[in-house]
Order: sequence, then structure tokens, then C-alpha cells
Amino acid sequence: GRPTLTAQEVIALRKAHFFPCTQHFYRNPPVLVSGSMQRVTDSEGRVYTDFFAGVSVVASGHCNPAITKATVRQTRTLQHTTTIYLTEPSARLAQRMAGLLPAYPKVFFCNSGSEANEGALMLARRHTKRKGFIALTESLHGRTALTMSVTGLSMWRGDPFPDEDVHFIPRPYAYGVPAQEAAELSLNALRGVLQSAGDRIAAMIVEPIQGNGGMVVMPDGYLARAKKLLDEHGVLLIADEIQTGFGRTGALLCSDQLGVQADIVTLAKALGGGIPIGAFAATESVAASLDTPSASTFGGNPVSAGTALAVLDYVESQRLPERAARLGTALKLGLERMRAFYPRILSEVRGLGLMLGAELHADEPSLGAAAVDRVLEEMKDRGFLIGKNGVARNVLAFQPPLVIDASDIEAMLEQLDAVLGGLEQDRLRAEEPSVPADFPSGAEAP
Ligand code: PMP
Repeated sequence: GRPTLTAQEVIALRKAHFFPCTQHFYRNPPVLVSGSMQRVTDSEGRVYTDFFAGVSVVASGHCNPAITKATVRQTRTLQHTTTIYLTEPSARLAQRMAGLLPAYPKVFFCNSGSEANEGALMLARRHTKRKGFIALTESLHGRTALTMSVTGLSMWRGDPFPDEDVHFIPRPYAYGVPAQEAAELSLNALRGVLQSAGDRIAAMIVEPIQGNGGMVVMPDGYLARAKKLLDEHGVLLIADEIQTGFGRTGALLCSDQLGVQADIVTLAKALGGGIPIGAFAATESVAASLDTPSASTFGGNPVSAGTALAVLDYVESQRLPERAARLGTALKLGLERMRAFYPRILSEVRGLGLMLGAELHADEPSLGAAAVDRVLEEMKDRGFLIGKNGVARNVLAFQPPLVIDASDIEAMLEQLDAVLGGLEQDRLRAEEPSVPADFPSGAEAP
């Protein structure tokens, strides 16, 4: 076959032919060429344990044979597309999802998270016959026109002409502020918007855990109280479970775990186990409003739907939600312990299950962002891929495939300890009173 390209060659091709918006992690990035469960291999044969792929698509593991078998079988059997023709996998998948998520018995299949949210927002407009939306600051909901308009994170709001009917309220979190206080502030803002504009608002869209916003879990009772206020004004709640869905947080739906039933839930990423698929699902009464013809060329195609069925089988048979809860507890404890060792570097550990974040230098975010970049690079060189997110990009993100082992977590924590230890050393050295240049080496400082 073709010779493998070096990282510099791939970067050069991307620079030449991708739009300039394209970014990559790392000063010396690996070129990934293969994957197996919780591990990926680069073009030079180095193996990495993946602590971040779960953010995207492979909660069930890279190239998991239980899932690729279904993909290959379906690819060889039927690749016909569009919901206009009858095929079996998408019908079975819809039935399966309704069984797993009984609060949302109706579903529409599409190809990505953005498309799922776009559909959910449009459905909310049809159902309520209202145009406006409420969203949280620091949220991320997608890359299409409407989903970008409800995205609060400025770095992902690239459209210079976003939809103007969006009311942002403060997310129920601020560093150093007690959770309940932050929740009250946010709910008061919600009340204010509903009082002044409630009759023009179709829905509020929320991530149960803000992923790109820095692993911010909606505080206890917040979503249920928000839902009650929304109900009083006939405003729907859309739970964006694109990062949280299908087990990562310790339950099939994180909103469920946090005590709320939404009107519409959106899903993607984990559902396809690496193959593109998105879905929005809704209650009977809300779903009834999507009654004009709508079809998708690739939405619910047999390959994606057949793969998703295998993913759901795997999630259930391997009890991945329970596994995520158990291993997540171990990882969180380890990170908390590290926070106790390095309190001046590691400010806060947040998250649920295997969706965890560790914020560095919360009081000095630009220092934190530089520290995060250094940790990412050194951890990669030690064989672990971790991620980063947060408004200031100063949060280490841990979202491994749910098939990861306890021993992988221990090994990762050991290396992280060494890397943070190095940071601490450098910090202490920088704080030492400077020694005159002509001071004899080897002698003790006065
Ligand atoms: N919602 C959330 C919470 C996400 O994290 C993302 C992607 N990071 C999206 C929506 C958009 O999904 P996609 O990239 O599949 O369009």
C-alpha cells in the first residue's frame, strides 16, 4: 500500500487543504493508524492508552470485534440508504432504544450530534409554535446554524450572524462559589427570562454535564427545578446527552441520573461505536408534532443502525454503565488524592462516572492552559492520551472508552503523578530566591 505519512506530512496536507479552522492537539502529535479497545497505535508503532476517545465516539472501545462484526456484516449485506425504503436495522434500533429509554418512545435518526440538536430545536419550534430558545453560558451544542446559536462557548461560535432569539442564562457553576448558590443565581435568571419572554420561547437546551465547558455537572435538583419553571410557561426541555449518553456517567441517561425527565433527548457519539449516527428522541405528545415529511439520506442507514444495535447489546451485556460508575469512582478518588498532593496546581476535580475533569490553576487560567498543554504532551510521551477542555482550556479531560481497566487507571495516575510532580518542582524552583550567577556551584546558598 501507500507509505505511511509522517506527522509533519499530515500537518502539511491539512494546512494546504483544510480550512484554517482545523486544529490539532500536541506539539509533536502522533499519527494514529490502528486501535484496539482502550488502546491506539501510531505510525511509529507506539501504543497509547486512550483516556479521551470517549469524548467522541468509541465508548465501547476502538475496533471492538463485537461491534465491527456487525458493521462488516451489514456493510457486506446491504448499504441501501434513506428511510423511504423499508429496512430492518433502523426499525429494530428504534424499538431497542424505546425499550432502553421508555420516557422517549419516538426517535428520528440522523448522522451527527449537531444534526440531532438541530432536529430537536426544530421539533421544539414546531411543537410550541414559538421561535426562541434558552441556553446556558459555556455550553456547546454543535456546528450548524441553529446549534451554534445556542452554543455559549465563544470559541465555538464561529457564525458572525447567530440566531438572535437565544437567551443565555449563567450556568449553575462558578469556581469557588457553592453549588447551591450558583444554582439559585442561574434559576433566578431563568425565572427572569421566562417572565419577560416565556411565551416566545420554544425550549431550553442543556447538557447534563457540560463537556467542552469543562466537565461541569448540573448541581443536585437544578434540572428538576428548571423543568418545573419551564413547564409553567409551556417551554420544553431538551437534554443534550451527546457526550453523556449510553453509560458514560453511570446510567444510560445522565439527565435521568440527575433526576429529570426532559421532553426531547439528543444522542450521538457513543451510539455508533465509531460509525456516524445521531438521534433525537421525544415523548409521544411532543413527537406527534413532527408530522410533515422528513427523510434523511444516511440517517438510520443499515450500516449505522446495525452497528448501533451491536453497541447497545454490548453496553447492556457488559454492564458498561455500572462499569463506568465503578471505575469512575476509582479514577475520581485518584485525581482527588492528586489534588491533595498538588493543591497549588490542581484546583478542582469534577464530573461523574468516566466523564471527569481536573482544572489546573483555576485562579490563573492562562497559566493553567499552559500547564494543561505540558501535561498532555508529557502524558502522551508516557503512553497516555488525555484531553483538554474548559472556557480557558485549562481543564484536563478524562473520558476513556468504558472498556478501560482498573490497571489502566492506576498506570495513568502513576504517570500523571510524575508529570504533576515535575510541574511542582519547576514551580518551586521558579519561586526560590535567585542565586547570583557567580555563586560557586556545589556550595550551599547563604
Ligand atoms: N453536543 C455536545 C454536548 C457535544 O459535545 C458535541 C460535540 N462535541 C455536539 C453536540 C456536536 O456533535 P457533532 O460533532 O457530532 O456534530
